[in-house]
Amino acid sequence: MTDTALAAGRPLDLVADFPAIPAGWAYLDTAATAQKPKPVIDAITRGYDTTYATVHRGVYQRSADMTLAYEAARANIADLIGAPANEIVFVRGATEAINLVAQSWAAQNLKPGDRILLSMLEHHSNIVPWQMVAERVGAAIDVIPLTADHRIDLDAMAAMIRPEHKLVALAHVSNVLGSILDVAKASEIAHAVGAKILIDGCQAVPRVAVDVAALGCDFYVFSGHKLYGPTGIGVLWARADLLDAMPPYQGGGSMIDRVSFERTTYAPAPTRFEAGTPHIVGALGLSAAVDYVRAIGLDRIHAHETALVREARAALSHINSIRVLGPDDSAGIVSFVMEGVHPHDIGTILDESRVAIRAGHHCAQPLMAALGVEATARASFAVYNGPGDVAALAAGIERVKRIFG
Ligand code: PMP
Repeated sequence: MTDTALAAGRPLDLVADFPAIPAGWAYLDTAATAQKPKPVIDAITRGYDTTYATVHRGVYQRSADMTLAYEAARANIADLIGAPANEIVFVRGATEAINLVAQSWAAQNLKPGDRILLSMLEHHSNIVPWQMVAERVGAAIDVIPLTADHRIDLDAMAAMIRPEHKLVALAHVSNVLGSILDVAKASEIAHAVGAKILIDGCQAVPRVAVDVAALGCDFYVFSGHKLYGPTGIGVLWARADLLDAMPPYQGGGSMIDRVSFERTTYAPAPTRFEAGTPHIVGALGLSAAVDYVRAIGLDRIHAHETALVREARAALSHINSIRVLGPDDSAGIVSFVMEGVHPHDIGTILDESRVAIRAGHHCAQPLMAALGVEATARASFAVYNGPGDVAALAAGIERVKRIFG
């Protein structure tokens, strides 16, 4: 990353940091997974080629060094969301983090007749784990509707929540619509009836500054690979008092205090939730990704992406067969449908013009049903995109229109 690329007042121009993005390719599928900048790739390479060893158990120097680096990564990642290191549990990704909370906290704290409150726009990974635990404990699920401009309706939430709701689980930023939740307000509404609130921050952590204390939530989860880090590593944050009271999720090595065939005692959190040899180099890669976004600044990233989305929305709205979904101020993500053209066809034709978008239900089938569509086309933006990518998208869409006449 050069100083010129980051000079104040200039638009972000960072594509040169991303070796997997060749010139002329508009990669607009960051909401699925982000491309990796060179410093992240270098950190992963270094992790394996000159510094590799296991963590926590080795009595030799290399392992002690790797343990320090691994725990420093935890502290660095914790700092990004304003949390202390001991409140960060490393998991495979947001999906595993939500399953952990469902199978540990919810299975312990929910009883028959209790209720879980979700929203209409949730990703399947913030629906299915709750259905599984609800079935296991005899709880029920309620769903908050959306406003006319496709946000989670917090007035409806306030009207429908009751003391039986023990847990609320909501997306901070929708992976389909880009709408941003007022998490502080949602937390207040949840806490007014004594419910805990989990926030799925998968699409938010790469796009908006997150401070878990200011948000007031109880659990916050995200995946490293959407934050320019590697796959296979993600984060569950929970307040220490909550983590301390939660039973383990998986058993195995590393998560114990003492084991005998009569009785096993567990290590304190977060170790208790990290059974098995962890994704050591994944943590180092994610920490390098955190350094990368921190150097740019999340406020700047947010401004950059919302500007691109606004341009894209304006360009798409000009085409009268297109319906653009989501609110005008959506964060980095825009979904749209085109009359008479399946999103998969849009995606395939755009690919011929070297524009990569996502087409499908985006793991949000209940949302598709609520929007009255089978699927959408989705463009999502990142630090490596620029106005040229919006222009390529718009030109590609014009071509789709010509082909389908
Ligand atoms: N929630 C949201 C909002 C997402 O966008 C995604 C990934 N598409 C997930 C959860 C699941 O993340 P992962 O597949 O990395 O576990």
